[in-house]
Amino acid sequence: MVGRRERAGLPLWGCYLAALTVAVIGYFGTPDSWIQTICYDSVAVSGVVAMVTGVRRTGPTAAGLWLMFAGCQLITVCGDFTYALYARYLHSSPYPAPADVLYLTGGVLEVVVLVLVLRRRVPERDAAGVIEAMIIAGAFALVAWVYLMKPVTQSTELTTAGKLVAIGYPVLDLLLLALLARMLVGGGARNGAYRLLAAGMISYLAADYAWALTDHFEFEAGTFASHLMDAGYLFAFGLYGAAGLHPGICDLAAPVRLADRRFSRWRLTLLTTATMIAPLLLAAQARQADNHVTDAPAIVVGCVGMFLLVVARMAVLIRQVERQSSVLERQAAELTELAQRDALTGLANRRAWELALPLALDHARRDGSSLVLAVLDLDFFKRYNDEHGHQAGDRLLKEAAAAWASGLRRSDLLARYGGEEFALLLPNGDGEHAVELLDRLRPLTPSAQTFSAGVAVWDGQESSDALFARADAALYEAKHDGRNRAALAAA
Ligand code: GH3
Ligand code: MG
Ligand code: MG
Repeated sequence: MVGRRERAGLPLWGCYLAALTVAVIGYFGTPDSWIQTICYDSVAVSGVVAMVTGVRRTGPTAAGLWLMFAGCQLITVCGDFTYALYARYLHSSPYPAPADVLYLTGGVLEVVVLVLVLRRRVPERDAAGVIEAMIIAGAFALVAWVYLMKPVTQSTELTTAGKLVAIGYPVLDLLLLALLARMLVGGGARNGAYRLLAAGMISYLAADYAWALTDHFEFEAGTFASHLMDAGYLFAFGLYGAAGLHPGICDLAAPVRLADRRFSRWRLTLLTTATMIAPLLLAAQARQADNHVTDAPAIVVGCVGMFLLVVARMAVLIRQVERQSSVLERQAAELTELAQRDALTGLANRRAWELALPLALDHARRDGSSLVLAVLDLDFFKRYNDEHGHQAGDRLLKEAAAAWASGLRRSDLLARYGGEEFALLLPNGDGEHAVELLDRLRPLTPSAQTFSAGVAVWDGQESSDALFARADAALYEAKHDGRNRAALAAA
């Protein structure tokens, strides 16, 4: 019954997401008491349950990793519960607190799991994707250092452990952000589960950055604002759960072959925006403090680092373009070669012949040299086919071509004109010698077969068509006179 309802209406992940939204809206109305903690943790745990349920139902690639991912979320929920226990039951808020250990452990493990998932998605070396993710994360790292981490290092209130914990959060956020960027700009399945997972990561990062920044500005978070941040975390848990329920989870960690990605316009815009952050920060500081730049070293490092990454990205791009163009060149040469070769005999085909003949005439005209053209046609080849079969006929064509070619000079051109007709171009020859040559070639024909030939000597003026027509007429004469001979066309 459930299965039928799912197929007809909203899918399970959609139902879950709808219920989640209702629950999060309801959460805004909870009082600051155990009720709030229970509501928050229930919604968060529902995300964990949803992911485990989905993974067990669909049995996706790397199911173990997804279960571990759900485990990371559970550790974070435990952290939250521990925090509430200290605040509400023991009425103490130590810093760093046991909750921080759980939050950070969950975060580190989540980063490890996501790295493993991404490595499964893109097992090949992908310098371009890694550099792009580093450019984006680098920009955020600079902002995070200036506004979140550096103030912590300068704090006089915090103990060393407190400072380490306080820096640990933005570092984890940065790693998560780098992974999100890697996921968004890299290859791999981009289905519903992918979008839900990415949306979950964005929701989490938005909430965490909002939390970190309001904390830094010592902005007294009102109930609504703190609920709003909690909603960001809750949506993250829920979206992860919905991703687990989505059938797309099946191939989310499945390996993909990286086709050479196109360097799209939006990608360029994204990377340019990231590289603009350092100079913008510089401008902001210079304006604020009367041209005094407080974070000059950090901004210089950020600028130089980002610039080098962009250059590295461009180098990868150029290498990619060079690789593609050399492949294209090779393919073009192969195509040209294929287009001018007869598949059966390996001789030049009619196309190659028609390109070569006018060139040879031009050459002879320039040099004042002579040129002889012969047309060869196997005798009674239809009968041969009828008696021995078409395949034997093919074999004969192939062997005859090879045998005749072996009796020619390198400068002579033998082409398969069509069917069992061949054309021969003899530079610097005369008619009598050509007839003698053809008389020598004839006995080379395999299976005791013969051919007739028409020979025409170029008169120094006529077109290639006229020359060919005269040779063809001579061939007709040779056939008429009893075959197995070569006839010389009248001048
Ligand atoms: P003739 O001495 O007057 O030239 O007689 P012929 O039988 O050779 O001439 P005709 O033009 O009547 O027949 C040519 C035959 O060549 C017909 C066709 O089946 C055969 N042929 C043409 N191309 C091929 C080919 O690629 N393979 C084979 N096996 N036969 C071919
Ligand atoms: Mg013929
Ligand atoms: Mg024939």
